[in-house]
This record gives sequence, structure tokens and C-alpha cells, in this order.
Amino acid sequence: MPNNNAQLEWQDGQPYSTSYADVYFSRDSGLDETEHVFLKQNYLKERWLVLEEECFTVAETGFGTGLNFLCAWRLWSECAPEIARLHFVSMEKFPLAYEDLKRALDLWPQLAIWRDQLLAQYQWLTPGFHQLKFNQGRVILTLLIGDIRDTLPQLKASVDAWFLDGFAPAKNPEMWQPALFENMARFSHAQTTFATFTSAGDVRRGMQAAGFSANKVPGFGRKREMLCGHFVGTNRPKLLADDKRAIVIGGGIAGTASSHALATRNWQVTLIERHSGLAQEASGNPLGVLYLRLSGQDIVLSRLAMHGYLHSLRLLQNLKLSKADHNPCGLLQLAFDARELERCKAITARGFPPELVNYVDAVEASRLAGINLSHPGLHFPASGWVNPPAFCQALASHENIKLVTSAHALRIERHGTLWQVWDDSRLLGEAPVIILASASDSKGFRQTSHLPLDPVRGQITTLEQTASSQFLKTVICTDGYISPATKGIHTLGATFSADDLSTEVRESDHSNNLAMLRRLSPELHQTLSSQAHGGRVAFRSTTPDYLPMAGPMLDAESLSANPPRHNANPESLPWLEGIYINAGHGSKGLINAPLCAEILACAINGEPVPVDRKLLGALDPNRFLLRKMGLKRLIQGLAAYPLM
Ligand code: SAM
Repeated sequence: MPNNNAQLEWQDGQPYSTSYADVYFSRDSGLDETEHVFLKQNYLKERWLVLEEECFTVAETGFGTGLNFLCAWRLWSECAPEIARLHFVSMEKFPLAYEDLKRALDLWPQLAIWRDQLLAQYQWLTPGFHQLKFNQGRVILTLLIGDIRDTLPQLKASVDAWFLDGFAPAKNPEMWQPALFENMARFSHAQTTFATFTSAGDVRRGMQAAGFSANKVPGFGRKREMLCGHFVGTNRPKLLADDKRAIVIGGGIAGTASSHALATRNWQVTLIERHSGLAQEASGNPLGVLYLRLSGQDIVLSRLAMHGYLHSLRLLQNLKLSKADHNPCGLLQLAFDARELERCKAITARGFPPELVNYVDAVEASRLAGINLSHPGLHFPASGWVNPPAFCQALASHENIKLVTSAHALRIERHGTLWQVWDDSRLLGEAPVIILASASDSKGFRQTSHLPLDPVRGQITTLEQTASSQFLKTVICTDGYISPATKGIHTLGATFSADDLSTEVRESDHSNNLAMLRRLSPELHQTLSSQAHGGRVAFRSTTPDYLPMAGPMLDAESLSANPPRHNANPESLPWLEGIYINAGHGSKGLINAPLCAEILACAINGEPVPVDRKLLGALDPNRFLLRKMGLKRLIQGLAAYPLM
């Protein structure tokens, strides 16, 4: 992956693309052009002043300098209802480097408030989907980094207005193809509008052929005419529930993140936890590391790891945990054998930006860690550790979340259009939406008993720091990890034992953790192995393919009784309408569960989903059942279904 930043030069202080030989915006006034072409001709002010829906989605071809986004955001903050959300999706093949974006946006001091917020989050833009949240989630920017021809078909969204930008058709003919217009039509509905600065005949005909009306209206500045119009096809806008109550079962990271993602979208959430407080099981360890295992290729597991990691970093940035609960001290993954070294080198060859991951030799690794290390490895500068209970607490602290503790959800029953959650004999709550987020216990209900979720025992070891170990500055990982000391204690972890349900803290597992420490750093092992130690056992839930489950549930009994065809319309399948799951995160809950929570919240609310459809299909909780029934091909079709 070569450097994919935009190649540009500055002409009279304005950005000019040397790759496309074209300007990013009109020389006359980019700001006025945006207002005339994109805002006015999509009737955004008029529509937002009387907006009834809670979410409005704009999609743009070509993020460029972000000027259109900032202008839309400014207008939104002036005239949209306080309760509504603007979701702005923008596709960009060559993101501007930070310094270029800043220089371009410095041209508009009147946009400074919005510019600064964008700049604060404008980083880590690797290929793929990125979701940036502003104003407590009132404005969401989903950036699709890559060629629009690859990224747009992977989108799952219902778009209300299109900004068709992307350099002049004559300078960039590859983009302005029928496939673009056809994909736009797929994501449009009867009220969808579009506007573009160009009046090129091919574009007008292409849009018309795809099902849009396309009218010529006066253009901006030197452009005599431009095009705008609306979708005249038959796609329906998404019908969304009026009853915005949800029950989330499980008070760990998956459950609190799921509650948070819904609560910030104005849902009233009842969060049910069987223990007397949050984060009592796998999310109850005193420390968890933001550990992502990448591969040399863009395979699904690796893509999920990167997207999940970035999502958690951005969420932590917005939550602002105290320094005692979140330390972005960096993380080193040491290449402790030839195979790991090869993996690290293959990852480095993918060309991720250095602020995300770097290859470091043993000398540099030692400097970063503050102790001697004899292996090279990968350095993740923004990673570090989090106190998971504090993370859960911060996620659940929202006025729309009601926490119900010491309540053991044992049964789910349909009652009219609602689901009821019961313990032995007590009704714990009822709502049209339920999210199961109780790790392997999520399969403890009649409707979910077929799910292959298995508990895997993990034991951590805590060790008192020594005079030399206190210099450890970063998290270090091999097949396990050691953290820098916090309040005088290092955490080492964790063992991984399937088919073992014992909760006992064992000396043999401490020995295993210490053996891992010896591989990682003989020096640390020597100083720490005789220190006083403690430990904790918890169970993570795993799936057969090591990918989590995030999505809506099919009714396994009806499905088995009436097996569908592999090309069945997803709408015709027996859905347990309103039941979703967020589980099976193994030891990666910190980086995967919040992203899965966001995926569910977006799907439930008809908002653009923050991952590509292929990844969405890979997370489908029904995949094991469908594979067993020989219906593998149906799984990908499900990712297109409105529920997901
Ligand atoms: N809307 C932008 C703004 O507000 O600053 C200006 C967009 S600029 C005129 C066009 C952008 O489209 C460039 O950033 C370019 O890299 C991007 N682009 C062109 N072809 C593309 C493609 N095939 N896929 C994705 N992005 C593309």
C-alpha cells in the first residue's frame, strides 16, 4: 500500500490536484460554490427546517478538503432539530495529508469552529471505512477510503441527498461511469435528491438512465449550468420504529457499548445485569490492552481488528476517561520467532501510516519500552491499556440508560409486538428491541440455544513492580502481554483454556504467564518472577471461526422446519424481529465489541453501517446455522437486508 495521500500543489494559495489537473473548488469562492451547488440545489435548508426523521444522510463522492462537509455541518447546526443526527458519508481515494487539509481549510476562518473539530479527528485514514463522531454523535462522518468503484458497492445505507463531486468528468472519466449512477440509485428512495457542479451530457444521461430526474439549472461562477434532480424510482425510504425502547442483556463492554450506541440515538435502554454491578466477568479485569493482531493481507479478521481498534481509539478519545483509567502508552508486539518476524514485515509492507503502526528494531523497541528488549517488532503508538470497568461505567453513564442489576434474564417471550424478558417469575422488562450481550450466556435462551458460543477460561497474573520494572513504559506483547505498572502493579495475561470451567486461580497458570514473560523479556522475568503475585479468572466467549457475532437473529426452529433456497429473499426469512446479538469476542472485546455495538445501532436506526458489507456478512450470527444447512451463499445476501 503506497502513500495514498492526495498529490497537490498550491496555486495562488488554493489547492490544485496534480494527479487530476483540476481544482478542489472554484477559484471564485469555494464556500459560495458549495452553498450554491450542493446545499441549495439539494434544498437542505428547507428540508432540515421541517425535518421529521431523526437521521438525515448525505453521501458525497470525493471528500477532498472537507469543505462541503463543514458547510453542511454548519447549516445543520443552524437549522436542523436539536434531536436529529446528520450522517455524512464521503468517499475518497486520495485523502489529503493533515497539513494540506489544514492549509486548505484555513482559507475559511468562518468555518473555524467546525474545522478544528474535524482536524482533531483527522488521522489514521487507512483504506476502508472510518466513522468520526462530532457533537456527542449529533454529526457523524463516515469516510470510505479507497476507489469509489470498490467502496460504494460495499456501503449499506439509505441516502437522502447526494453531493456528486469528484473533479470534472473530462479529467476523471473513470469515476463518472454508469456503475456510479446505478449504485447511487440502489441507495436512494423517493425523496432522495442530488446535485453536481457539472452539466456534462454523459452525466445527465447516466443519471437519467439510473432512475433520476436530471435538470440543468444555473451553475456557480464561471459555470453556466449545473445538474440537480431527484430519484424517481420505486425504492422505499426505510420504515423505522416509533417505539424506541430497548433491553440490553449483559453489563460488560459489549452490553454497555450497545446501550451507549442506542442511548446516544435517543433510545430508552434498560440494561440488565445479573451481578450486583457492571463489569463483573471478563470485562472486570483491572486492565485490558488495546491489542490488535493484523495480517500481511487484508483478510476479514485483520480488517475487523483494524476497524475495531480505530473505533475504540476514537470512542476513548470522545469519552475522555481519566489518566488512571486509560493510558495511551503505546504497545509493542515483539517478533519473537522467525514466523512472527515474517508477519511483522508483511504488515509493514502494507504501508500503514506511521502514527498507526511502525516496524522497530530491537534498539528502538528498547528505547520505547524503557527496558532492554532483544527482539524487533511492531509499535502501535496510539494503543495502550484501559481499565475495563471504568470503560463500562463511562459507556453506561447516560441519562437514557436505566441499569437493572441483580436481575438474571432467563427467558425471552414474544408478547404482541414486544419482547418480554423474564427471570424465574419476574418480568424484567419489555421492548421491541433486545440486544443479547452476555458472552456465552447469550445462548441460554430457547431462541439462541443453537449458537456455537463457548466459554474459554483466562487467568491473569498481577505482580508488584520492582526497582527496575517500574521503567517499563509501554505494553509489550508476544502471545500474551505485560503492562507497565499502574499503582505499583503489572498485569500479565492471559491464559487460554477451552473446556475448563473452573474459576479457581491456579499456580500452574501463573507459571504459564511467567513463562510467556520469559519469552518476552528474560530481564523482566528475572526481576519480576519472585514478586508477590495475585490473579483473576474470567471467561471469554469464542466462536468456531474466531469472529464475533453481531447482527439480527433468525428463528432457527422455523428455518429448520422450512429450509429456504440459497437465493431466497432475505425479507421472506423467519426473523426474530428485534432480537440482536453482540457476543463472541474472545479476548478482543475491547477492540471489537464497541464497533459491533455501533454496527447494530446503525442498522437498527437505518443509518449507514460503519463497515463494509463483506465484513458485515462475516459477522452475521446466523452464519453457522446457514452453513450447516448448506446455505452459505445466503449469508452474504443477508448483509443487504434492511435489518442489517
Ligand atoms: N468535496 C470536496 C471538498 O469539499 O473539498 C472536493 C472534492 S475534489 C473536487 C474531488 C475529490 O474526489 C478528490 O479528493 C479526489 O481524490 C476524489 N476522487 C476522484 N476520483 C475518485 C474515485 N474514483 N474514488 C474516490 N475518490 C475520488
